[in-house]
Amino acid sequence: MAAFLLERVEHHAGRLEASKVTAINLLVGERSCLGDDALRFSFDLLTAGTVAEGARITIRRTPMRFHCPTCDGAYVPAEADFACPSCLTIGQVTDDGGEMLIESVEIER
Ligand SMILES: [Zn+2]
Repeated sequence: MAAFLLERVEHHAGRLEASKVTAINLLVGERSCLGDDALRFSFDLLTAGTVAEGARITIRRTPMRFHCPTCDGAYVPAEADFACPSCLTIGQVTDDGGEMLIESVEIER
């Protein structure tokens, strides 16, 4: 599961011409059964020998994400309101990569 995240990190790093990724800020669905330690552990294994080796992993838990078919975008619904904030369509809960995404990466050039 973390493999596709690493791909994204490497993509970001390449685009920003980074020599090193110093931190990866992850957003993880609060329903995800993966604990922080398990996530960090699998990232450490994956990033060994890559531009992201030794990066600090910051994990922020987030409520479930929804996908809006009208805007074709993801959003996190407000409590007790599942509508898309842009167009008010009621979207679908997404199930992408165990509800995990990269919020941002910090790099060194
Ligand atoms: Zn929308």
